[in-house]
Amino acid sequence: MALIAILAGDGIGPEVTTQARRVLDALGLDHQFEDGLVGGAAYRALGHPLPPQTLELAHRADAILFGAVGDPEMDGLERTLRPEQAILGLRKALGLFANLRPATMFPGLEDASALRPEVARSIDMVIVRELTGDVYFGDKGRGHTKMGLREGHDMMRYDEAEVARIARVGFEMAKRRKKILTSVDKANVLETSQLWREIVNEVALDYPEVKLTHMYVDNAAMQLVRNPGAFDVVVTGNLFGDILSDQASMCVGSIGMLPSASLNEWTGTCGLYEPIHGSAPDIAGQGKANPCAAILSAAMLLRHSLSDEASAQRIEAAVIAAIGSGARTPDLGGSHSTTAMGDAVLAALQ
Ligand code: ATP
Ligand code: MG
Repeated sequence: MALIAILAGDGIGPEVTTQARRVLDALGLDHQFEDGLVGGAAYRALGHPLPPQTLELAHRADAILFGAVGDPEMDGLERTLRPEQAILGLRKALGLFANLRPATMFPGLEDASALRPEVARSIDMVIVRELTGDVYFGDKGRGHTKMGLREGHDMMRYDEAEVARIARVGFEMAKRRKKILTSVDKANVLETSQLWREIVNEVALDYPEVKLTHMYVDNAAMQLVRNPGAFDVVVTGNLFGDILSDQASMCVGSIGMLPSASLNEWTGTCGLYEPIHGSAPDIAGQGKANPCAAILSAAMLLRHSLSDEASAQRIEAAVIAAIGSGARTPDLGGSHSTTAMGDAVLAALQ
């Protein structure tokens, strides 16, 4: 029996996580669930976005199902107390360095894609995003120039071990798929990217069966719209991965469809699973959020942390069937509520 921690968080986090939990319950698996407070919800109740008891639960759990954090009412707080710090803190504490973001076109959703249907239909890729380095964690600060102008800086930095371990995840993933790996950087202007390229080429020696291509991030952004079917696995840094995966989400229809897994090694001992979207304060509390990304995150949890491929596939098939039956939340051009979308997935699961 495994322990699954549920950290629902803020905004639509609790709404979509509730639906994922219903789906997990319906599978009748012998797992234990424990809820924890995180983000703005935790700050309100306990004065910190990542309180010690939540961190303790995260360490104790076999896997974490995470909703979203972020609360516009807390924008004025000092940086370390803002809700977003909770997810950064969890990634650091659990050593979660690899973020897998599959983007696959769901049959029947072509009309929701930002691309032409025949282009959209070709999308079947995984973005592997580095999570613990880059400008998010380098030295940052504000000051003034000699001329007295206000200045800000965020330092981009990677070391070779950080690049090598994420590159390995990319190659391992590609090896199990279509054996095509695209490494995305900006080596024409960034030193970190030149190091990135060097290390990826070194790791490539261990994977002769994988076809490796390097691509500049600006070109990758263009190719993602022009010919997304050419991508299989994309490996990239924290910042580029953040941007490219939001872009990929619109290519497959909606940000509300895409799950993610954050792992600390290839198979992941304690992984964290969350939709790629945020807390969506603009639609929170209105029952409009698409719960599919959260439900598909639960499928990834079963696959990567609990080695339960059969249950993961059952959930994925149920989401595809629900979409196929016409269930659509507003982001997909329909009028299903969050709960009604959950109902449709549950009905397809039976
Ligand atoms: P973060 O900084 O946490 O990534 P964000 O600022 O990128 O958050 P999101 O919360 O992801 O913003 O929301 C971006 C847009 O997508 C919003 O308009 C939001 O309403 C919409 N959106 C996000 N998730 C969903 C969902 N599950 N269903 C429908 N719409 C969504
Ligand atoms: Mg975002």
